[in-house]
Amino acid sequence: MAHVALHASQTRAVEVRNIYCIGRNYAAHIAELGNRPEEDPVVFIKPTSALHIPGHPIRLPKHSNEVHYEAELVLLIGQGGKHIAEEDALAHVAGYGLGLDLTARDLQTKAKKGGLPWAVAKGFDCAATVTSFVATDHIGQPQHMEFQMYLNGQLKQHGDIRKMLFPIPFIVRYLSEVFTLQPGDLIFTGTPEGVGPLSPKDVVRLVLPGHIDTSFDVEG
Ligand code: ZN
Repeated sequence: MAHVALHASQTRAVEVRNIYCIGRNYAAHIAELGNRPEEDPVVFIKPTSALHIPGHPIRLPKHSNEVHYEAELVLLIGQGGKHIAEEDALAHVAGYGLGLDLTARDLQTKAKKGGLPWAVAKGFDCAATVTSFVATDHIGQPQHMEFQMYLNGQLKQHGDIRKMLFPIPFIVRYLSEVFTLQPGDLIFTGTPEGVGPLSPKDVVRLVLPGHIDTSFDVEG
């Protein structure tokens, strides 16, 4: 079974249920891929077999020649629900982590052209790489989170959640109208600009200042 760690006064393992992802949530990233902003968020799902947690290297899949990192803030749902109001949304979040929505960009580009689903481009093993999670009451002001992604020591992505086109309360409300959110669900909230390819021997570092500083080695 797939678990993530949730750090509060004690650390506990939380079983992961569904993995939801939001696409096209930062204007500068939409522009860098030549996409247009959407009226509604782009939503896709990854299988739990794609979950990858710290402790082992990320293994790049054999079926792609161009796997991109997409560093994202990830929500861990604590209390599930249906039709969650935006003003209640943050109370349903148990913790915040960082993740890599790994994407086989070659296969995704092909799928987009054909109007086909993204499962093989976004659902392979390790495609949902996540750090540990920090309990919501340790975060303070979740409205002002920023995060960084470094590739081999170089800053590649800087996320500021105030730049999200669809803010966290909107995302939780929107998903909960379509799906019944469950405790243990993860929500990847979209990537800022600066995405790029991963290669064997790369080191990816994800930083949520004051809370998370986690590195992953990459293997071919
Ligand atoms: Zn993404």
